[in-house]
Amino acid sequence: MSDLEEFRSSVRQWLLDNCPQSMRYTDADLAAGGGQDDLAWGGRHPNYANPDTQTWLDRMGAKGWTAPTWPEEYGGGGLSKQEAKILAREMAELRIKPPLVGFGLSMIGPLLLEQGTEEQKRRFLPEICRGEIRWCQGYSEPGSGSDLASLQTKAVLDGDEWILNGQKVWTSYADKSDWMFVLTRTDSDAPKHEGISFMLVDLDQPGVTIRPIPLISGASPFCETFLENVRVAKDQCVGGVNNGWAMAKALLGHERSMIGEVFNEKRDRNQMVELAREYIAGSEARISDPVLRDRIAQLTMDKVCLDLTLARSKEAAKAGQSPGPETSIFKYYATELNKRRSETMVEILGPEGLGWGSPGFEDSELSVTKAWLRARGNSIEGGTSEIQLNIIAKRVLGLPD
Ligand SMILES: Cc1cc2nc3c(=O)[nH]c(=O)nc-3n(C[C@H](O)[C@H](O)[C@H](O)COP(=O)(O)OP(=O)(O)OC[C@H]3O[C@@H](n4cnc5c(N)ncnc54)[C@H](O)[C@@H]3O)c2cc1C
Repeated sequence: MSDLEEFRSSVRQWLLDNCPQSMRYTDADLAAGGGQDDLAWGGRHPNYANPDTQTWLDRMGAKGWTAPTWPEEYGGGGLSKQEAKILAREMAELRIKPPLVGFGLSMIGPLLLEQGTEEQKRRFLPEICRGEIRWCQGYSEPGSGSDLASLQTKAVLDGDEWILNGQKVWTSYADKSDWMFVLTRTDSDAPKHEGISFMLVDLDQPGVTIRPIPLISGASPFCETFLENVRVAKDQCVGGVNNGWAMAKALLGHERSMIGEVFNEKRDRNQMVELAREYIAGSEARISDPVLRDRIAQLTMDKVCLDLTLARSKEAAKAGQSPGPETSIFKYYATELNKRRSETMVEILGPEGLGWGSPGFEDSELSVTKAWLRARGNSIEGGTSEIQLNIIAKRVLGLPD
């Protein structure tokens, strides 16, 4: 048996022995795109309804398999790319849920690996891998969204600490997070892109006020975050003072890949067909309405093309390339496609798609409607679709202004 084959069988056995049954997707989860409620987001004060969530996180975290390819000295698994692929395949085959999700693993962790000082890596990465701290992103401000470089939050150096004052908005999950990565102005006289720094802020300190913002979908995933004389140790600035714009862009590359990836899941494709069969009627093989049949076929083909393009870019990432401006293509296409797909699903439901928790209204229908409402935010967060088109025009296609 080759080394990789041996690795595969030991991984499989370990997963079978250690993954609690409730942390595996069921048939019903896969059909309805569910099973996400008991995923671990980590944090100092997690509150998981299912105790297996913590057990699974602890077991995978102890092996470093929450971040399989990160170096062991930073809490990762130290696996080679081939080994990590085997682990991912075995988890997918056994329908095992990820042990940890969130901005630590997908955004700030990768940035620290690339740009952090040795001390920053040793301090933050192991805690991220074990899910002990949860992160949020403090970029947007009331007057600075698309034109992010106009941000007004200010940091002034006072001995060994920066003192921050300002307001952030749309800070997803700030109320559940322990730390925030923040863009702040450190030189007001410099051109706007050059006077910004990227800092790591502990939210558990006086001067931090977080207020959740309720949304149309009923949930309240984001907040207003006020910073009043908030202190940040000098060595918690990432990438150097006044070099924050480069850090912001590098992190947005990871964020946009992540948002594009979110829709790279096969199970949704079936859900649209299943809904059409149930609500529009048709045989096992054909949906009766030919126009709808065409639309579903087109959406399905578009999705296959996106999946293949994402797979190609994943291979490039494995070969060591950092995400570049082409992530804007994935972000734009994936989120716009997802909007078209979720609109089609709500249309298929007809009047049922308009219900809101009324008697007889099933959870699965409600989840389709909620997903449709949420999909609109996906094309705004991480930079709007219009901004992605500007980036693609300028930095991918090289078109003139
Ligand atoms: C679900 C969700 C989660 C979010 N989470 C976070 C978070 O965790 N942290 C955080 O910092 N922010 C977060 N945001 C904020 C998000 O990054 C901003 O909403 C986004 O960058 C747009 O900024 P804005 O809302 O100020 O809109 P504006 O910038 O005011 O844009 C308004 C409209 O004008 C268009 N527009 C603006 N400039 C141009 C241009 N140059 N060319 C063409 N069209 C343009 C935009 O496309 C948009 O349609 C989140 C947003 C959403 C919806």
